[in-house]
Amino acid sequence: MTAPRLWVNVSKIAHNARSLVDRLGARGLSVTGVAKATPGVHAISEAMVRAGVHGLGESRIDSVSSLRRAGVEAKITLVRSPMLSTLDQVVAHADVSLNTELEIIRGLSAAAEVAGRIHGIIVMVELGDLREGIMPADLVPFVQEVLRLPGVKVHGIGTNLACRSGVAPDAGKMAELSGLADRLDEVFGPILTVVSGGNSANLEWALGQGQTGRINDLRLGESILLGRDPLGNQPIHGLHTDGFTLTAEVIESKIKPRQPWGTIGRSAFDTMASVGGGGNTAQSILAIGHQDTDPAGLRPPAGIQILGASSDHLVVDTGARLLELGSEIPFQVNYSALLRAAISPFVAKVIEHQDPVSVD
Ligand SMILES: *Cc1c(COP(=O)(O)O)cnc(C)c1O
Repeated sequence: MTAPRLWVNVSKIAHNARSLVDRLGARGLSVTGVAKATPGVHAISEAMVRAGVHGLGESRIDSVSSLRRAGVEAKITLVRSPMLSTLDQVVAHADVSLNTELEIIRGLSAAAEVAGRIHGIIVMVELGDLREGIMPADLVPFVQEVLRLPGVKVHGIGTNLACRSGVAPDAGKMAELSGLADRLDEVFGPILTVVSGGNSANLEWALGQGQTGRINDLRLGESILLGRDPLGNQPIHGLHTDGFTLTAEVIESKIKPRQPWGTIGRSAFDTMASVGGGGNTAQSILAIGHQDTDPAGLRPPAGIQILGASSDHLVVDTGARLLELGSEIPFQVNYSALLRAAISPFVAKVIEHQDPVSVD
């Protein structure tokens, strides 16, 4: 088999999706499943749909149209604001998009009218993380403008926290979003289908004991794929954190000195570990690097330490034992390593459908 390979255990990812759908369902929240870290691996999106997600979310219109070509009929929300240059495709393939600019929404309305469709708009509100969103004070007049447009309907409002500045989606922020939903009801009547509270960083709030208020949907990616809450990088109880494994092959294994010698300047990529100590150690090179993944996001098996990486080489210290040439080493991945591996043309993707293993 070719290496490197990204093993995708679809059963574990499906288990994560089903577990979150059930637990959030009990709290009155639906799940929009976001598989944007693994574009083109349709089996993951399809597993999310079978697990009962309310719809799928994608950040790029090419990924949306690719899912449509693969026959996916679920509701798809474009979770990044559409580019003006793509509006015809957006209304053709996505049912809903997250939006913050009236000029873009006017373009969506015009494109939808030509296509004979109605496109759903979720208006994103800025609550302090300083990525996308209109300021809360602008929401009522903004929605009033959107309601005038014939090719679109207001599907809901939403917010996104934690991704840029690490602002926590806590009870206060969610109460603020609920309050904005109430305010829109007062002015326009019950026009909102969805109040989308945020991403995987919202789970601590959502699975807690507090009131969920008007929030009725979360857009979840990392928690389904990797079983982790990105805010604290904590594993989520009852979810699999090993749905993906990235394997790489050993191409050199030697006993070498721990310390380099000669005049030392800068290396091509930042070295990740500055190794102390003298003497010799068992050092191996694996045929994987920055062209395949984010080396800093790899977790090696016990007994192996990552020393550094360049475009095509990953250097590891294996202490007392020499790795065999041609052997394959499995790594766990974080979100960044996963997404780089998923989009690298040099990494083969292998889909495994195993019976779900129970987790506690
Ligand atoms: C990526 C993204 C998500 C999913 O985020 P996770 O942290 O992976 O759950 C949700 N909403 C928006 C707007 C996104 O861009």
